[in-house]
Amino acid sequence: MQLPYFILVFVYGAIFGSFFNVVILRLPKNESLIHQSSHCPNCMTPIKAYDLIPIISYIFLGGKCRSCKHKISIRYPLIELLTAITLTFVFYRFGFSYESLIGFILTSVLIIVAMIDIDTMEIYDRFQIILLAIALLNLFISPLPILDHFIGFFIISIPFYIIAYLTGGIGGGDIKLIAIAGLLLGYQATLVAFFIASILGGCMAIYLLLTKQKDRKSLIAFGPYLCIGIYIAYLYGNQIFIWYLNFFS
Ligand SMILES: [Zn+2]
Repeated sequence: MQLPYFILVFVYGAIFGSFFNVVILRLPKNESLIHQSSHCPNCMTPIKAYDLIPIISYIFLGGKCRSCKHKISIRYPLIELLTAITLTFVFYRFGFSYESLIGFILTSVLIIVAMIDIDTMEIYDRFQIILLAIALLNLFISPLPILDHFIGFFIISIPFYIIAYLTGGIGGGDIKLIAIAGLLLGYQATLVAFFIASILGGCMAIYLLLTKQKDRKSLIAFGPYLCIGIYIAYLYGNQIFIWYLNFFS
């Protein structure tokens, strides 16, 4: 029975998610990640350890600071929950394996990258370097031919680069992200990642245009959609690719 392991991964996921909140909040402001305890952004009161339990504390506090009753953003428990769920799915898919280990790191980095991209429209190179490291490690354990991984590096990044060169519509961070993720995934799953990202990004763009929250000229961060696509493709990309080929044959 694997249930205790699933619970363990979920709990650790929520704890990691709590740390990712700190990274997402402080990194763009160049604040230290460790030398400062968490405090309420409104009244600056340090938050007690028993109020820092992921997900649970937010519910018990009713989403408000204990001292000043200032509303705490629902984003914090949501990111903790998201991390817990996505890491648990990685373990569900790969069990005790190197794939799970790489999946945990990949998922963690993607969550941080996506949230910082939403906040700042930037993808930091330090995260690309972490992804490159696991992509290279993955070459040693991948069942795919090594050529598939190298094609993956170029298959979307080159069209992106050309579009960026011609229109400036795609950021350099997105190009690097899909190149490195392509190296990790192999070209089949990279196509799936791009396909998922395009559908999600397209739907969101149409929604924002229809509800007039953005006009046609304003930029929409594509990075978060790429991150979702890469995550799903890491878990099921090759299966989706084969299913797609069979669907048309
Ligand atoms: Zn407060």
